[in-house]
Amino acid sequence: MLGEGILKGLTETARNFFGSYVSKERLTTVQFPEERLPRIEATRDHPFLVYDGADWEKGLRCVSCQICEKECPPQCIYIEKSKDKKPDAVGKLQFYPTTFNIDVSVCMSCQICVEVCPFDAIKMNVEFEMSTVDRFGGLLLHREHLAKSNEYYHKIHPTEAAAVDAALAEERAKTEAKAREAAEAAAAKAAAAAAAKAAAAVPPDAPAATGETK
Ligand code: SF4
Ligand code: SF4
Repeated sequence: MLGEGILKGLTETARNFFGSYVSKERLTTVQFPEERLPRIEATRDHPFLVYDGADWEKGLRCVSCQICEKECPPQCIYIEKSKDKKPDAVGKLQFYPTTFNIDVSVCMSCQICVEVCPFDAIKMNVEFEMSTVDRFGGLLLHREHLAKSNEYYHKIHPTEAAAVDAALAEERAKTEAKAREAAEAAAAKAAAAAAAKAAAAVPPDAPAATGETK
């Protein structure tokens, strides 16, 4: 029937409107900001940068690959890459961002930057009360504003953060095992080279050592 959807919608609105006088379940709005609805884990507003440990600058997981900057639909991320490298979250030497800005006034909360990041370095924050009278700079967040600890990440998205921690721990273990194997191979190679050098240093007519005494 033509207009059936509209009628259904209006009926539901009317049920909520009149029902809210007699049933709390029909009261679908709250008196914000005095009252707040419980936040669900999938809530998202704008991105933040995760860091590990106590020092946000040293612990940033971001390796400045700039994938998020390229993929962000409204182009509101700006990154400058470092000249030197530091160990990343799994112990590999990587570049880091010397500048990482997000213009939150432009960000549309699409989460594409989070989905394309191969390093679990950028996640969605749940904060939304960010109004400011500074129209041009007030919502341009720099890396020091964007950096949030892994503990904070666990607090706002516990299930997701636990899964990320497990994946990073597995990757870290693989990196450590590879480094151990490489060190053992290098030590074995050095020992073989030393043995070969020692063998070459023995004069060809030198009597062979028998180990017997007279
Ligand atoms: S959430 Fe979307 S719009 Fe916002 S910074 Fe990430 S990619 Fe850009
Ligand atoms: S947040 Fe992720 S995708 Fe963006 S530059 Fe850093 S490591 Fe790359």
